[in-house]
Amino acid sequence: MIATCEAGRSGSAHLNFTTVPDSSQPTASAPATDKRVVVAAPRGYCAGVDRAVVTVEKALETYDSPVYVRKQIVHNRHVVEDLESRGAVFVDELREVPAGATVVFSAHGVSPAVHAEAKARGFKVIDATCPLVTKVHQEAKRFAREGMEILLIGHAGHEEVEGTTGEAPDHITVVQSPEHVADLEVMNPPSDDICYATQNRQLAVKQIARHSDLVIVVGSANSSNSVRLVEVALEAGATAAYRVDNAGEIDPAWLDGVASAGVTSGASVPDDLVSGVLEFFEDHGFPPATEERLMDESLAFALPPELRKDLAGSR
Ligand code: SF4
Repeated sequence: MIATCEAGRSGSAHLNFTTVPDSSQPTASAPATDKRVVVAAPRGYCAGVDRAVVTVEKALETYDSPVYVRKQIVHNRHVVEDLESRGAVFVDELREVPAGATVVFSAHGVSPAVHAEAKARGFKVIDATCPLVTKVHQEAKRFAREGMEILLIGHAGHEEVEGTTGEAPDHITVVQSPEHVADLEVMNPPSDDICYATQNRQLAVKQIARHSDLVIVVGSANSSNSVRLVEVALEAGATAAYRVDNAGEIDPAWLDGVASAGVTSGASVPDDLVSGVLEFFEDHGFPPATEERLMDESLAFALPPELRKDLAGSR
């Protein structure tokens, strides 16, 4: 069994924990002067998203315009709109791209059929697929070669699921809920196959949700890992939890009776959107936020090799 990065699995592999305050007591009855806002860390951009966004930025600087991007480079509306304003053209399918153009593939990966189409039509391809997604593709191919049937946890129609399924279409079944595998015996993937970023953001929101009357998750509706953070916050004890794209989507009525609020963001969310949410709380009578950091993250990925080569050549 393998899981997509957006599938929102939990686990405890290779984590470095730092001490955080024991704040498991609910604060709903605290007086107004005891109001507080805690922002979770890690949150926001993961290494794969950071690499993909920088890839488009560098491509816009390096190649003749327009630079096409197949699918949303990452699942965040603000990021996509910002890159569009700087000249990127987002398309759903390669048939929308003129022959010979430059095309960036998104962090979520593409199937071999998409690579083949791009080659046949003479595109210059910059592949911003997250290396951890590529690893899942390789795993799928290996399992298929070994004759295994593969259960892929994820949402049907999600780019990452389509890309991975395309590696071994005859061997993969997409699993969207636990009921689909209730009667099956499955072999779990090695624990280091689980994306560190998804896991860390869930652990961090659990930590703050335990003592929050309200948790705000910043992230777009099509970001599965952001949607999952809301569910995790509620499961961990938050009285209420909502996903918003930005501070403008917060209903002030959500703050009624709230003494302790928590804030986090999905893996495709730039931190300025979180800052906007923290400002919203300050504008509504809450003190400046404190950060509860569960662990540090240091993973970074090099830019795609084809882009690095062209960047070196343009210097
Ligand atoms: S680091 Fe994880 S969450 Fe981020 S793009 Fe890669 S696989 Fe997805």
